[in-house]
Amino acid sequence: MKFIITTLSFLILVSANSFAEPSGKVIMRLNFKKANLMLQQLPGSIDIAGQDVKGGTLDIVGSHEYFELLQQEGYPVEILQEQTTGLDERYMRPDRILALVKELEAEYPSIVHVEKIGESLQHRPILAVRISTGDNLSYKPTILFNGMHHAREIMTTEVTADIMIYLVKNFNNPETPWVTEWIKNLAIWVVPQFNPDGNEIVWTSDNWWRKNARGDDSGTWGVDLNRNYPYEWASCGGSSGSKDNQTYHGSTAASEPETQAMMKFVKEQNFAIDVSYHSYSELVIAPYGCQNHYTPENAIVQKIGSDFSKLLKTDSGKGNYTYGTGWEILYPVDGDDISWMYNEVNTLAYVVEMNSSAQGFQPNYDKWRNKTVEGQRAGWEFLINQLLTGPQARGRMLDAKTGLPVNGSVSLDGIKYRDEKPRMAKNGFYNKLLIPGTYDLKFSAPGYRSQTLSVSVDAHTAINQDVFFEQSLGIDAE
Ligand SMILES: [Zn+2]
Repeated sequence: MKFIITTLSFLILVSANSFAEPSGKVIMRLNFKKANLMLQQLPGSIDIAGQDVKGGTLDIVGSHEYFELLQQEGYPVEILQEQTTGLDERYMRPDRILALVKELEAEYPSIVHVEKIGESLQHRPILAVRISTGDNLSYKPTILFNGMHHAREIMTTEVTADIMIYLVKNFNNPETPWVTEWIKNLAIWVVPQFNPDGNEIVWTSDNWWRKNARGDDSGTWGVDLNRNYPYEWASCGGSSGSKDNQTYHGSTAASEPETQAMMKFVKEQNFAIDVSYHSYSELVIAPYGCQNHYTPENAIVQKIGSDFSKLLKTDSGKGNYTYGTGWEILYPVDGDDISWMYNEVNTLAYVVEMNSSAQGFQPNYDKWRNKTVEGQRAGWEFLINQLLTGPQARGRMLDAKTGLPVNGSVSLDGIKYRDEKPRMAKNGFYNKLLIPGTYDLKFSAPGYRSQTLSVSVDAHTAINQDVFFEQSLGIDAE
């Protein structure tokens, strides 16, 4: 077997990958078990569709020419799926999402609040929907579910739509009292469709388009929005600097208006938990994205993430989703949203790669739409429950003398953080999610004396603890 990239084969690849010829692509499967294959060895720019870690296979999107090239070079490769034109009209285009959100807002005004968090490059609104009773919002823990960083992953929008519809329809339903409790006590946010421009391309010219619509008069190349966040941007080989690559990270960190909108929104809302829905591969992916990097609170990230993954059943009905960091179960990524969110606001942030490779990006609607969205419910319901009643400490941070709110930080004493920003209070309200165990929680705020609180929590202990800060009078008593 030879892995040498010839000049000729590289030229064939580049011409076949250009956006000017969107049709006639295939998803091809490489078998890792048959060859000791390294991603980096594959010629040219790779568009990864998905991966089956247990099965040892990697699916990539490319032209027929690229498939033939791999065959000629001796790779164990087979064609999985030919690209067909058109999509099932029942999947939702950007205008349908807007209509749905407006309808929910009109029908459930007491619990649905819509915010435009920004605009896409082509000036389509990026909407966020808050499902919560409007009272006392400063003291409500926040959670985010977002769909469609990648344009072709159209099932993700079905899941985010289902979350919204399921919640509003079951509010005040005597048969689902827990839903009423969630909506009363939490602020549940949904960004149903993060990449509307890319999704328009999916509907109009290339149904396997992944990126946004960045381009100029000479054409559209797109930026991979899930490689454009500033944390470890373009730093560990988990993205590409080449415009025609499917993981092109953009010209600078956070160059894209969509990315900027999400960053501003996440900082404003201080999310405790986030799920970013993608497809496909049946995985739950945790931060960090770069090789050998775990978050300093990996015990917490891992326990909650793996419990989450166990609730998501695979399409075959045998087993559940696989949990791990991106570099452990997929490939290294940099500039991804979940790594940035964890690092920036200490969000427990996960990617769900839903559906199996047999379904691909655009599963048969009749067979898989309802099955998939219903199958995801156990997962997001678990995370909402974690936020409301799972192990954690929460309360207010106040100035001991004035009683005014203080936006201090809460971190785990004894843990070695790198450059992570600690979990901060917002409007004087903090919450820190934990797993069963004993912790020393350290509270700090500039100008105040730090203090430590020892807590023990079991699976259902949410400790409510207000923290009163004494001014340090210029001397840090720490
Ligand atoms: Zn994706």
